[in-house]
Amino acid sequence: MPAAVTKSGVLVGEVGSRGLDARLLLTRVLEDASDAIIATGEDQEILLFNRAAEELFGYCSDELIGQPLSMLLPQRVRRRHAGHVARFSGETIERRSMSERSGVVGLRRDGDEFPAEVTIAKLRVSGHLVFTATVRDVSERVALEEQRRRAETRFESLVEHSADTIMVVSPDRRLLFTSPAYTRLLGHATVKLGEQATLPRVHPEDEALFEDTFTDVIAGGTRSREQEMRLLHRDGDWRWIHATCTNLLEEPSVGGVVINAHDITARKSAEAALRQQALFDPLTGLPNRILLADRLTQALASSERTGCHVAVLFLDIDRFKVVNDSLGHGTGDALLLAVARRLQKIRRGVDTIARLGGDEFLIVAPGLEGREQALQLADRILASLDDPFHLANRELFLTASIGVSVSQGDRPTAERVIADADAAMYEAKRRGGKRWTLFDNELRNRMLQRITVETELRLALGASDQIVVHYQPIVELTSGRVVSREALARWEHPERGLILPGEFILVAEETGLIQSLGAKVLDAACRDSGRRARIGIDEMVSVNLSPCQLEDPQLLGLVQSSMERYGIPRNRLAVEVTENVLIRDIDRAAFVLGELRRLGVRLVIDDFGVGYASLRYLHRLPLDILKIDREFISSLVEDAADATIVSTIISMAHNMGLSVVAEGVETQRQADVLQELGCDYGQGYLFGRPRPG
Ligand code: C2E
Ligand code: MG
Ligand code: MG
Repeated sequence: MPAAVTKSGVLVGEVGSRGLDARLLLTRVLEDASDAIIATGEDQEILLFNRAAEELFGYCSDELIGQPLSMLLPQRVRRRHAGHVARFSGETIERRSMSERSGVVGLRRDGDEFPAEVTIAKLRVSGHLVFTATVRDVSERVALEEQRRRAETRFESLVEHSADTIMVVSPDRRLLFTSPAYTRLLGHATVKLGEQATLPRVHPEDEALFEDTFTDVIAGGTRSREQEMRLLHRDGDWRWIHATCTNLLEEPSVGGVVINAHDITARKSAEAALRQQALFDPLTGLPNRILLADRLTQALASSERTGCHVAVLFLDIDRFKVVNDSLGHGTGDALLLAVARRLQKIRRGVDTIARLGGDEFLIVAPGLEGREQALQLADRILASLDDPFHLANRELFLTASIGVSVSQGDRPTAERVIADADAAMYEAKRRGGKRWTLFDNELRNRMLQRITVETELRLALGASDQIVVHYQPIVELTSGRVVSREALARWEHPERGLILPGEFILVAEETGLIQSLGAKVLDAACRDSGRRARIGIDEMVSVNLSPCQLEDPQLLGLVQSSMERYGIPRNRLAVEVTENVLIRDIDRAAFVLGELRRLGVRLVIDDFGVGYASLRYLHRLPLDILKIDREFISSLVEDAADATIVSTIISMAHNMGLSVVAEGVETQRQADVLQELGCDYGQGYLFGRPRPG
């Protein structure tokens, strides 16, 4: 029996030669089909409705067989559908597909509509016209497309209006598209879709990182990566950008790597300025202490691995304050700059030169074989300052003191090495400047000793009987009469016995203890002098003042009250200052000395001839007496040159109205020569050693 369609729309009979039950076969095929299949007669009455159709529309096939197809269509399209069917029936075409795009929709039992894709075929079965419709629900696809469409519009409007620049780049680095902001960012014309351009140049230093980011993003290692880099602007400048690279190669609407870029040049330069400020000295542009300490720490760490030495040279310009005070800060700054330039000239590539502020410079020299090289560098630096500096229409000569500290692989910290170099520099200053000093064990011991002295001196000053005053007579050379006595500090140490000033005055000056020590000596000198005056001894008493005591604002009050307390008349008290006061603040010194003189204090310039001051500054101080240093006196008899100097000093002093004292007179021969040269007074072991009382 040939296969046929029954009234109920089901095939019956046998198919093929194997005797398969055609009805069963077709039923299974229809039931298993994943698409909904509906057959209707010419009158649009439903003849067949498979399982997928049942699922799609929500009806049982029994409910629909014999019902009009329009039940499966929304009301509003039914008429249009009827028209289609009529047209299709008349056409010769056998099959036609329609999709949701031509408005094909289905209506589910629950009233929901869904977009559909339909293929309709015309069949002739046993003379009847039959339509079969394969229906597929495409809501999901439609939703996806809608989503993409929205995303695309969103992308476009984002791209159009974004302050950021969007670039789409092909895997082979061609620019496929740029947003309008691109022109603002890099000065080039925008690239529209369909055009192509080359990607702007990436800064050589950022290239490797960009390469890595780009290939990683393309390879899909990361979908999106961020990076800061420089791109070349059309004007030839580099612009810092923050770039987010996203792989949208698979995205049909993009098809490339999207680089979302914004300009961070301002931020970068602010950061650089901050860094510069934090790590560099504003005047010279040299690294500052922080950066230097960092470099030194690295150098020390690597010296531990390599066994090399690291040297730190602490340089301080000698008497820089004089330049600054006398020529003004502008010239001072210019001089510092000039020094910085000379230092930079002799620096090796690996050395770091820093300015610590003021007139202090630090040089870190890594990779040295030993001390010798460090000291050679110190020599070179000192030599580089030999030539005069030409500033403010003057020739200025400068010298410097350098402290050298060399690490010896004993795991020192940067602070330690710097502190040692600093201490060595102070030692170089103490020895008169214009030299280097190496921080070695001897210096270390001396420093330790100094610390001991400081501690003990502090205690001694608190005790009532440890700091005492001895007096040494000063005699008139012609008569041998004692005209004055010099008060000299002595320390009666409970264990060590009598200690001379050479061991403690410097420490007292450095630690500020000199103020209280000076007050003690002044008080004792005035007290003893007052006592001697009362028993009829007519003589002067002189007290030594350190330069820093002259700077003490309380000095004048202290002198005045001591004089009043012990009834010291005018011209009975003298103070001795050395030429060193001249190199500090000469104006200040002149003022204080002038005030002392108004109080009736005589002024003595001590140790004359060995200091820095030149004779021409002397007239600026209101002096009474000049004391020639004992160095000249000791060689006076043997050395004709010294005799000439002494003679010159004496006549110059007399011309200025000063009387002259020679100190350190030990022999009668010296006393005789001095008298011949016209010297007024003498002081020394010949006339009497310093004694209590
Ligand atoms: P100065 O003021 O030049 O004192 C003279 C120094 O020469 C004293 O040393 C004295 O003992 C020593 N002297 C005196 N006659 C002779 C001699 O014939 N031959 C030799 N070789 N030396 C002689 P002294 O007492 O050790 O004091 C050393 C320095 O300490 C003083 O030098 C002075 O600058 C300072 N000094 C002493 N007492 C004080 C003080 O109370 N305050 C301050 N600021 N400094 C002081
Ligand atoms: Mg003296
Ligand atoms: Mg002296």
